[in-house]
Amino acid sequence: MGLWLMIGKCVLAAKVVSVEYNPLWYYIACSTCNKVVQPYEEDPENGDLDDESPPLFHCSACDEVFFRVEAKYILVLRVTNESDEELRFLLFDHVARPFLRRSADALAEEVTLKPASEVPSTLSNLVGKLMLLKILTSNDNLKTRRVTYKVEIVVDDEKFVDKFVRNDSSKADNNQVSNHSSLDIWMPQNHQL
Ligand SMILES: [Zn+2]
Repeated sequence: MGLWLMIGKCVLAAKVVSVEYNPLWYYIACSTCNKVVQPYEEDPENGDLDDESPPLFHCSACDEVFFRVEAKYILVLRVTNESDEELRFLLFDHVARPFLRRSADALAEEVTLKPASEVPSTLSNLVGKLMLLKILTSNDNLKTRRVTYKVEIVVDDEKFVDKFVRNDSSKADNNQVSNHSSLDIWMPQNHQL
């Protein structure tokens, strides 16, 4: 079971095994600075808020209380390739949103009033899907398996995935994906960041 990643920018084709839902796949962000906000408890002594009022959140970066906040993706996918080794890949909002074509806000809304076990179909449908992931790996990533790789670009366009898999398997080495500096040339325009 060899490592199938190399140091540097690399692109690999991998299949989604599962989506992690605990902790949640999104966080509540400050609309001003995008940092994580915490629920804000009104002082019960002088608070006369009723149940109708919107929940408040405190942003420690802005040091302000807001009621307008936004869900942002912090999506962890467990993926594998033919080696059967599983890796955790992390997609932040600026990567997950264009790839999923839905905002985390919209998906979170979908399951708001559902039981906690209910997950948005946009996410559960990812399981079993083959996609290309462009990631940046460092020495640290190769020291331990219990790491999460940060994904920079996801491509799920079947035509491109097919093309990549065909080219790559012709090299037929031990599942390693070489540094693809030429990737950007064939990467579809709208997936470039
Ligand atoms: Zn803020």
